[in-house]
Amino acid sequence: MSGIFLSLGSNLGDRRNNLYFAINEIGKYRLITIEKISSFYQTSPLGQKNQPDFINAVIRIKTGLSPDKLLFYIKSLESKMGRIKYLKWGPRKIDIDIIFYNDLFVKKHELTVPHPEAGKRLFVLEPLMEIAQDLTYPGTDLRITEMVNDLRKTIPFEDYNE
Ligand code: ADP
Ligand code: MG
Repeated sequence: MSGIFLSLGSNLGDRRNNLYFAINEIGKYRLITIEKISSFYQTSPLGQKNQPDFINAVIRIKTGLSPDKLLFYIKSLESKMGRIKYLKWGPRKIDIDIIFYNDLFVKKHELTVPHPEAGKRLFVLEPLMEIAQDLTYPGTDLRITEMVNDLRKTIPFEDYNE
């Protein structure tokens, strides 16, 4: 089983509403169909600690858009939602990343798929596991559920499902 997965995160303003708004916008776009939406997870920020917790979610979509065009769409949605330049790992109103694009591998200046950090981040893997139980990491036979179990052993698990 594979699929196209996006992760969404927000830690500025009305965080849940920002996620709902983004998911709703994506759902209205005629070139993308949303197939699954995870629960919302509240997670501690990486990097700078003195900023609000994040709300994170993962969705599975169907689209004929190429990875490049999908990235372009995501970025335009981020700017439409008023996301302006900010510090790396600083507070953000909305962040949308392409996690997996089926079993495709992309490595370009502006786009790396699978997302290079995805395999290390519980705030991505947890919601992903919820909506894609049998999913394996692209190009491997490593199940997302196993990755989550392994990560939970090494990282204090602070996330909680709302
Ligand atoms: P973050 O790394 O926190 O998501 P940004 O959202 O500002 O930071 O992303 C910076 C850049 O990362 C984007 O402009 C985009 O070109 C690039 N990028 C590389 N791979 C991906 C991906 N898989 N999904 C989304 N953006 C990506
Ligand atoms: Mg991003």
